[in-house]
Amino acid sequence: MSSLRFQAIQNLSEVEDKKISGYGDKKITAIFGSHVFSGRTMREYLSDEAYKSLMTSAKTGSKVDRRMADQVAAGMKAWAEKLNVTHFTHWFQPLTGTTAEKHDSFFTLKSDGSTIELFDGDALIQQEPDASSFPSGGIRATFEARGYTAWDPSSPAFIIESGSGKTLCIPTIFIAYNGESLDYKAPLLKSIASLDKAAVDVCHYFDKNVSKVTTTLGWEQEYFVIDEALANARPDLVMCGRTLMGHAPAKGQQLEDHYFGSIPERVYTFMQDYEQEAYKLGIPLRTRHNEVAPSQFECAPIFEECNIAVDHNTLLMDVMNKVAKRHKLKVLLHEKPFAGVNGSGKHNNWSMATDTGVNLLSPGKTPRTNLMFLTFFVNTIKAVHDYADLLRGAIASANNDHRLGANEAPPAIISVYIGKFLSDVLDEVETRVKEKFSEQDEVILKLDIHKQIPELLMDNTDRNRTSPFAFTGNKFEFRAVGSSANCASPMIVLNTIMTETLKQFKTDVDALIEKGEKKEIAVLQVLRSFISSSKNIRFEGDNYSEEWAEEAKRRGLNNFKTTPEALDVFVTEKSKQVFYNNGIYSKRELEARHEIMLEEYIKKVQIEARVIGYLAANHILPAAIGYQNTLITNVKGLKEIGLDKKNYKTQLNMIEIMSDHIQNINDNVEAMIEARKTANNIEDSHKRALKYCHDVKPYFDKIRYHADKLELIVDDKLWPLPKYRELLFMR
Ligand code: ADP
Ligand code: MG
Repeated sequence: MSSLRFQAIQNLSEVEDKKISGYGDKKITAIFGSHVFSGRTMREYLSDEAYKSLMTSAKTGSKVDRRMADQVAAGMKAWAEKLNVTHFTHWFQPLTGTTAEKHDSFFTLKSDGSTIELFDGDALIQQEPDASSFPSGGIRATFEARGYTAWDPSSPAFIIESGSGKTLCIPTIFIAYNGESLDYKAPLLKSIASLDKAAVDVCHYFDKNVSKVTTTLGWEQEYFVIDEALANARPDLVMCGRTLMGHAPAKGQQLEDHYFGSIPERVYTFMQDYEQEAYKLGIPLRTRHNEVAPSQFECAPIFEECNIAVDHNTLLMDVMNKVAKRHKLKVLLHEKPFAGVNGSGKHNNWSMATDTGVNLLSPGKTPRTNLMFLTFFVNTIKAVHDYADLLRGAIASANNDHRLGANEAPPAIISVYIGKFLSDVLDEVETRVKEKFSEQDEVILKLDIHKQIPELLMDNTDRNRTSPFAFTGNKFEFRAVGSSANCASPMIVLNTIMTETLKQFKTDVDALIEKGEKKEIAVLQVLRSFISSSKNIRFEGDNYSEEWAEEAKRRGLNNFKTTPEALDVFVTEKSKQVFYNNGIYSKRELEARHEIMLEEYIKKVQIEARVIGYLAANHILPAAIGYQNTLITNVKGLKEIGLDKKNYKTQLNMIEIMSDHIQNINDNVEAMIEARKTANNIEDSHKRALKYCHDVKPYFDKIRYHADKLELIVDDKLWPLPKYRELLFMR
């Protein structure tokens, strides 16, 4: 009997529901941010001078001077020690897709051997983790093989609890000694700063009081939760985060009963538990609900400034993984853990807000503010139109290939949905704004635009759930982002292409003003030209349909179905230019990133190939052959007692069918190993990735097909891997 699987099932009934403390008679507000060195805490622990200096740095991105850093470090340490923290770490987001920490204790020895608890400005500002083990795309090979982490004062320090230990975490960027970035945060901060500047410049056409524009992000995180012991009985889930084989269960998501059902108790307790941890860390979680697939759920916070939101998302993914363990559950953040079942995404809701309190993607109340809204709205569409391939590249990963471009939504074709109301408005501007404009036209047009954008707009948009990039009333929602991705990747691209487009817009408007055109007319003229040149990217229909794929092709929109192809965009001249012009990446940094992403893709596919080979040889074939032997013994016995062949025809037939599947699995595994060897010999990583994509990966489905057939034949008692019905429905 295959013990691990049945032990796990047996144990299910014995898993005790873990009790969590709850909030007692307190409200969420009582614990919210209690583990964050927030503004309020700073006020308490810092001198006036240090507090002000830190606030200024957080706002402007300027450096905190050494003397102030000592004061801030002392304040942080005093606060942390009050909460029984013994260690600190620089917390950063290397390009591996997870977060990294290296813990040091406050405790240290003085030169005379006496002990002391120490944390000073030096330790706060800069650290040197062993960078050689993080991906660098060859950047460091040519220079000094060292990198360092540097404090990001714009994201507050926080305390992470793990077991009985508590660690003070300092959010940092991770860069090489020559300043090249090795993480997600450094380029993200640059992109936020460049968008701030470009957007403020454009805001000044409408409002001189604007002095800062912040990027806002509200993510929605989808995930699966399954029993930990069942997950541990599947080497594919343990090693790859997704199942590489497994026959579809009799009942899938067709009843849609999960979506509308109540959250199962064990999961509900887990949710409350991780929410409490999140609240302590200042992550403003707001919603939780079931998703479409069985065992799939979603959570979302209130939106925040983009850098903080990204930190909070990566932090939450860690917290969820840790807290799940307490409940003997396993969180699957993979984009496609189960074939034939909906995958998971991470919607990125994005907008921009001014320091005068205006959401730039929210229709205004007066004609003047509406023109500002229209400007940012149209510029976004234009940016997506001009750089759609970059957005596609930003969300490309081996995991996400199972959603985009596979038989699942959203498709790999980037398009923008804006709804009927705004489509009409844009059409109107396009047709009615003429080359030569009269005062009369201007008045009519402005009033019309205003009339057409009613305040009820929010209820009238976003009923198209199939669009990868949809306007949802007061923000754009980028839905094609993968559930395990770092949001920074799409945000860097979005901020950068928006910056570039806004700069272009300003150049064009200024040129018209220079020629003597009135400011608002100049704005309308350029909007008209942007609307017409970006029309191709707008699509209001069903993005999942075959017709759209054909229509998109006619329009010349790309449909990159695989990661190696989608990543090519990062090394085109056009991309290098846009990142370089806006100070986000040097050409070399971009090439390095391309290299890292290709290598990551290759490694993922390579590991999956190894695991699938191992599963086939060590799990599936032994089970199948074992059962086949039972049948053979049975046939022999029946023959021996003198029964006629017609009495064991079924058994014979099964033996034959099984032999066929066994042979096929074996042949395909061997061929896959050969293909892998060939691929591994290819020096060039782009070509190697393509080889893995087109020559190695196709074997997965072939092997799986036969394994899944065997699952239907082999005696259930002998089947070693927990089945889909157990993973998805038992807890
Ligand atoms: P849904 O998409 O499920 O209809 P909502 O529209 O209420 O839900 O919001 C989805 C997400 O969008 C939430 O995380 C919310 O905080 C975020 N969001 C709302 N307004 C903005 C904004 N101006 N900028 C960025 N994100 C926003
Ligand atoms: Mg949404």
